Amino acid sequence: MAEKIQAIRGMNDILPDTSHQWLFFEHTVREWLKDYGYKNIRTPIVEDTRLFVRSIGEATDIVEKEMYTFTDSLNGDSLTLRPEGTASCLRAALQHNLLYKQTQRLWYIGPMFRHERPQKGRYRQFHQIGAEALGFSGPDVDAEIVIMLADLWQRLGLTPYLQLQINTLGSSEERAAHRQALIAYLEQHQEALDEDGKRRLYTNPLRVLDSKTPSMQAICEQAPRLLDYLGDASRQHYDEWRQMISDANIPYVENPRLVRGLDYYNLSVFEWVTQELGAQGTVCGGGRYDGLIEQLGGQSIPAVGFAMGVERLMLLLGEKNLLPAADVPDWFVIHQGEGTARYALRVAQQLRQAGLRVVQHMGEASFKSQMKKADASGAYGAVIIGANEVAEHNVVLKPLHGGLPQQTAAFAEVATAARTLLQQIQAQKETD
Ligand code: ATP
Ligand code: MG
Repeated sequence: MAEKIQAIRGMNDILPDTSHQWLFFEHTVREWLKDYGYKNIRTPIVEDTRLFVRSIGEATDIVEKEMYTFTDSLNGDSLTLRPEGTASCLRAALQHNLLYKQTQRLWYIGPMFRHERPQKGRYRQFHQIGAEALGFSGPDVDAEIVIMLADLWQRLGLTPYLQLQINTLGSSEERAAHRQALIAYLEQHQEALDEDGKRRLYTNPLRVLDSKTPSMQAICEQAPRLLDYLGDASRQHYDEWRQMISDANIPYVENPRLVRGLDYYNLSVFEWVTQELGAQGTVCGGGRYDGLIEQLGGQSIPAVGFAMGVERLMLLLGEKNLLPAADVPDWFVIHQGEGTARYALRVAQQLRQAGLRVVQHMGEASFKSQMKKADASGAYGAVIIGANEVAEHNVVLKPLHGGLPQQTAAFAEVATAARTLLQQIQAQKETD
């Protein structure tokens, strides 16, 4: 036998037993984004490697070690499977002039790729849903984004399990002054830094503070705080943002060590974190990136956005039993005997045109085995068609739940009868 080929490690299939849950989630999210005036944008999965290096930053985990980068063997170009969505979104907005004298609220969904060690909530192909508000300087839009995310958690039933953490990263000048002080401080404590800490000391000292290493916690806590280096404008932006979040009655905690894993952020940053998923507890992160559009060759245009990890949210929704049961057909059509397949196709289509969900048995089998399949499908009822029904131009409608009696319906009335009976079965099932 030929060897069976497996999926790539860390890249998952989403199988029919769970895909309906993904569809439910995506549907909820699409409706939600529509309610806030966001428009969908779809960009390629592969981009010029320089796009990510220039936007995400050379000294970040993503660019240093997580990108799937390869050479296009036809022309030698360096290409990368997108590790996140913001860079591509802005590239497209600039390339197609979407930011000329106008603002944009954009959203995307799709797979992202990072070469990480696969574990619960961390994969090599994973999915993000993200949004970018382009051309708004905030803090009102920063608040709107937090408010809209809180609304999504409400719609999904996740509010009790998520905590909002916020911080401000100030301006690049303020970060530069703080950075100097921070490097000087960390140099005095070099012996206590772990490998990542030592490596990042000069390249990305802010990220050192984000370390999860227990022995470094005390040093990180006493490090110079960026908050103390903020000027009036940054401070005011932060104060107003917090005020608007409070106005919306959204609880939050300030986390002065929250820096995010990408270099392009300034001012407002935030994460939604859960305690329920172990180490992979951040389900959504975002913030302001006013310098990024210029960095990518556009004009100086303020921007703010977020991205959520779909797999982590699905894990959380699953753990909390907040996902819908599998879709079941309303009716399962079974048939046996000469000419019944043709008749059954017509009946089934009649029912679908009346808005019912119908699955029809295909091929020949005994009524008994078809009935088992009807039961296994979870359908509310079976439509039974034998030679008699064809001859008399009717069908038998047999409820599969709720203990109601079966009935015969004429072909011309089958849709009305099936709809009425379905309602009765559903009502009966609910009281069972
Ligand atoms: P982490 O600190 O967990 O590595 P990150 O800071 O790298 O996350 P972002 O780049 O901000 O993550 O991506 C936004 C969201 O995408 C994360 O909050 C998380 O929910 C999800 N995410 C990121 N990387 C992965 C991954 N490898 N597998 C699954 N989800 C991921
Ligand atoms: Mg990461």
